[in-house]
This record gives sequence, C-alpha cells and structure tokens, in this order.
Amino acid sequence: MMQTPLMISSLIVHAARHAGDTEIVSKRAEGDLHRYTYRDAELRSRKVAQALARLGCVAGDRVGTLAWNGYRHFELYYGTSGSELVCHTINPRLFPEQIAWIVNDAKDQVLCFDLTFLPLVEKLATLLPTVKHFVLMTDRAHMPAQTAVPNLLCYEELVDAEDGQYAWPEFEENTASSICYTSGTTGNPKGAVYSHRSSVLHAFAAALPDSLGCSAKDTILPVVPMFHVNAWGLPYACPLVGAKLVFPGPHLDGKSLYELFESEKVTFSAGVPTVWLGLLTYVQKNDLKFSTFKRTVIGGSACPPAMFDALENDYGVEVIHAWGMTEMSPLGTVAKLNSKHRDADRATRRKLLLTQGRAVYGVDMMVIDDDHKPVKWDGVSSGNLVVRGPWVIDTYFQQPGSPLLKIDGRTWFPTGDVAAIDENGFMQITDRSKDVIKSGGEWISSIDIENIAMSHPAVHEAAAIACRHPKWDERPLLVVVPKPGATVTREELLSFFDGRIAKWQIPDDVAFVTELPHTATGKLLKLKLRDQFKDHQLP
Ligand code: ADP
Repeated sequence: MMQTPLMISSLIVHAARHAGDTEIVSKRAEGDLHRYTYRDAELRSRKVAQALARLGCVAGDRVGTLAWNGYRHFELYYGTSGSELVCHTINPRLFPEQIAWIVNDAKDQVLCFDLTFLPLVEKLATLLPTVKHFVLMTDRAHMPAQTAVPNLLCYEELVDAEDGQYAWPEFEENTASSICYTSGTTGNPKGAVYSHRSSVLHAFAAALPDSLGCSAKDTILPVVPMFHVNAWGLPYACPLVGAKLVFPGPHLDGKSLYELFESEKVTFSAGVPTVWLGLLTYVQKNDLKFSTFKRTVIGGSACPPAMFDALENDYGVEVIHAWGMTEMSPLGTVAKLNSKHRDADRATRRKLLLTQGRAVYGVDMMVIDDDHKPVKWDGVSSGNLVVRGPWVIDTYFQQPGSPLLKIDGRTWFPTGDVAAIDENGFMQITDRSKDVIKSGGEWISSIDIENIAMSHPAVHEAAAIACRHPKWDERPLLVVVPKPGATVTREELLSFFDGRIAKWQIPDDVAFVTELPHTATGKLLKLKLRDQFKDHQLP
C-alpha cells in the first residue's frame, strides 16, 4: 500500500473538494453572524499559513490562540498545523498568571486572540517574552485606536495581504500538530501534544456511527470550546464527513444557543452537562421545543440522569454519553447500545446509556487493582482505569518519562479515574483517585486552593474537596483546621482568595474541623474526607 502520511490539512482539502459549498456559520465576538463555506475556509487557512510564515514562524513553532469557537479559530487550526506549526489552544478561563505560565512554557511565538480577550492580553503582554507578534482576530474597523499591546497586528489585514498560492506540505505524520494544557492534576499545568497521525485517526474514530456519529447530513454545533481538547475533535471530524458547522462564539447561555440551534437548523451538538442545564432551563421556562435538534454528546463530567430523561423524554434529543480526557484527544468511550440490547426493556437501556460506555476502536482499556492485576469485567469490581492507543499521550510536553505504567511489557496511561467494566464492555466511572475538582467541565486544582489557604496566618491545615452541586456538578469546599488560639471566620477566609485565584475557582464554603484524616504516612485521606462531607449543603 502507498505510504501517504495522515495530514491534518488533508481534512480541510477533502472538505473543500467534496463539500465545498457546505457552510460554516459563526457567531462572532464582534456580535454579528458570519457565514462562508469549506471552500472559503480552506483558501483562507492557506493564507493564514502564508501570513504566519511571513511573520517568521518556522516548522515546530507554537502559535497560541485565546479564542472562542469561530471560523478564524478554525482557520488557525488548519493554517498552523497544516504548515507544520503547532496550534496551542489556551483556556481563557484560567487565572491570568496561569495563562502567562502556559504561554511561556510552550514558548509561543505568536499569540492570536479574539476581541473579548484584548483587556486580558493588554495585562499580560509584558509577561510573555517569547511572543514576537500579537494578532487581534478581527478586521481593521474593530482594531482599537490605542492599546498597551506592543505592535498589535490585525488578523484580517494579515490574511488579505496573502494570495493563497500555497501548497499544503506533506511531512512525517508523527509531527506535533497541536498542544493543549490540562490543569487537571497536581502541580503546574501539563501539555498534551497531539500529532497529525493521532488527530486524523481520532477524527475517523469520532465520526463513526457508534461513536459520536457525524455525517454530511448533519449540522453540528460544538458548544465544547475549541480551547478545550480541540472541541473534542469536531473541527477535524466535521470536515472529514463534510458536515455543516455552526460556531457559537462567546455566548453559551440557553437563549443564545436555542436561537442559533433553531435559525441554523442544528441537528447535533456536544458539550458538558452545565451547558445543557442552561439550555434546558431556558426551553422549559419558555415552553419551547427543538425543531431539528436530534442528538447531543454529553461528556467532561457524568451526565446527570435527570438531564438524560428530560432531553430524551421531553425533547426527543438522543443523549450520547461519552468519556475522555485531554490526554486522550479526548475520546475514550461512548455509551451506545449493542444489537443484543435492541429489545431490552427501557430501564436496562437507560442504565447502559447512562454509563460512560464502550471503548471506541483504537482505545484499549482495563481496570487494575493496586498490584496492577486486571480486575474482572463483571460490572461490580472496580479499580484504576488505564488506557492505551494511538491518540493517548505517552509523555507530557517537556516531561519525559511521565506518567506511564508498564504492565506485562506494555505501556498504559493511568487515567486517575476509578471504574468498573461490565461483561459487555460498558465502563462506569465510580470515583476519581486524582485530587481535583471539576466544576462546569473545568478543573480546579485542590492543591492551589490548599496552598492559598495554608498561607493564611490563622490556618493550621487545609483541604479542598469536591462537593456535589446541581448546576456545576462539583464545587470546592474548603475544610480548615484553625491554628490553636486563632480565630478566623468563613468570610475572612473566602475573601482571602480574592486576586489570588480565578473568581470561579474560589471555594463556595468553608467547614471548620479540629483535625483532618491522614494516612499512616501523613497523606491527607481525601476519599474519607469526601465521604465525611458528602451531605454538606453548600450555601
Ligand atoms: P474532558 O473534559 O474533555 O473530558 P479533561 O481532561 O478536562 O477532558 O477531563 C477528563 C476527566 O474528566 C476524566 O478523567 C474524568 O475524571 C472526567 N470525565 C470526563 N468525562 C466524563 C464522564 N462522561 N463521566 C464522568 N467523568 C468524566
């Protein structure tokens, strides 16, 4: 067989040829709706590649993006990766110092950002020594008259200056294509580097009918941000099949989403549970129905059963519950039934569809005990979930040797999730061994919260744990042992976090205790603490 490398650029080239007049519609940060086609997107992506080369970028350089889901971000995905640069998507919801840390760690040469983030970049620009060019993703009319960002460039001017006479190069398929940092685990954020090969294979897998199931007949609106694990691969899977794409821009509230779903006839979407809660509340309150919306992927956190029921029963929207990780590009498992379940009763089907689902081809998974022995697939025995496959990372960026396990001569990635797998391969997450809090699909580091709390003069010891929350799934609760003789109030402690951490990461509540549970080696027993506070009512 021919040795043709799997290139990310081939996806947009394919879409331009075979779905050339299929639309990409974007709600822009400027406020209006923009529409063009895959043919236009491919041409402009070539111009982006030319413009970045003109700015001095060479193979392997990182180009940072701080942007919502939109067509310019999409062009940057292809313009960077397609020209052998690395697209570095940055989560704008992080604390500014953390964003600076990430840009510096990745050594971004260029930083492209939406209008929304101009004030943020103005604050950060002097802290980013590697960034040679700042590009505002807008047209001349929206450029600021004055700005603290040095030599601010205009995206549309850069694109317009190019002729598009550019041939997408072919190179080694294992070349890095993009990088995304996860702040999920302890310590500083870690970069997961994707390759052309891993991204194209992942797009194939994501598009399959029993996976996310993308088709040229679909109109797909990814609510999951393009700054978070490549919007779960949809910006690659959609051109692969030629689906119409709708990008929601900055407004992800129920009303904005509903109006876009209806006006653009969206059939399929994807996002974390919190987003669907907002949308459901809006349609319920206003007694609305969806005319075309038929399926949605829910992942990032467990899909609440009540949400599953409301979408399926009240609105006829099929819920596709999926599990994955930044380190897995992200797709791991999808809850789709086997033919043997076709005639199963409703309750059985619902139960299976609410699990995290079956592994998609390409992802090998097992649950192991503390001695690294595989645990039986009986749906009850649980253990640590480990995975391997062509779109699973083997090291974090610039951290060789992290974090793999060798089991029976093979390399596995420890997910930090605790799970059970049933005899049909349906995986269910039962707990998490990693020490983090996931609020509205975004990570909050318990370590960061604890470090800040411990720097307060009245705090002897502190632990941050996840507490169940109806809207955000989890919210942080700070458990504190005060210093002997010291007095400190809940309000004093909470206001101590102002300016030290992003607002949404500040704990919702403080509980005072006389001691915290520890292991024999002095490690905090978070599982026990979580159990102790499982009925804690957040204010
Ligand atoms: P993403 O949010 O895109 O899945 P992250 O790397 O931010 O990627 O988070 C991965 C972690 O989120 C998983 O290890 C798991 O703890 C949790 N998670 C993801 N999907 C689910 C799900 N469907 N059910 C329960 N937990 C999930």
